[in-house]
Amino acid sequence: MNNENAKRDPVSKLIFELSKLPGIGEKTATRLAYFVLKQDETYARSLAESLVAAKQKVGLCETCFTFTDINPCRTCADTNRDRAIICVVERPSDMNSVEMAGTFRGAYHVLHGALSPLDGIGPDELKIRELIERLRTASAPVSEVILAMNPSVEGDATSLYLTRLIRPLGIRVTQLAHGIPMGGQLEYTDRQTIGKAIENRMEMR
Ligand SMILES: [Zn+2]
Repeated sequence: MNNENAKRDPVSKLIFELSKLPGIGEKTATRLAYFVLKQDETYARSLAESLVAAKQKVGLCETCFTFTDINPCRTCADTNRDRAIICVVERPSDMNSVEMAGTFRGAYHVLHGALSPLDGIGPDELKIRELIERLRTASAPVSEVILAMNPSVEGDATSLYLTRLIRPLGIRVTQLAHGIPMGGQLEYTDRQTIGKAIENRMEMR
């Protein structure tokens, strides 16, 4: 805990910690904090314990690098899935979004971000080496990699970078069809749009 934080009273500290969550501004954090304070202590305890338990029990799948409590994760362990096609996404939440669309029955690979040199995120900060290694050493050969990056400058840069690495391996590289607006995020895109974007995926140029 830093000095600034130590000086806060318990309610301000709770609001401060909640406001770090994505999409939660100070107003919402305040509302959530007051909600928790109004409940009896059992709820606060159970909330705190579930946060710690999730953090302790959940790690990264050794194959696809999504969050999981078992290794390999349930998706990688599913023998009904087509391992010849790998869908590459930025975050575990994107994997959930593609999965919810219901049209994809292949495997996944989670990069944990997109290339963003200005923020100090280069290839070594992402699971890119692991992806190439996976493609090279797969027991059953991979025939296609679908790049399902978010439509953004960083997502596009990542797709181009990966295409240059993957195509020389003799693997087809495709990307999601347009329909997801630039600056949009898979996480907040409806199932039908994602489903269509996968069906109509295009060859990377
Ligand atoms: Zn996995």
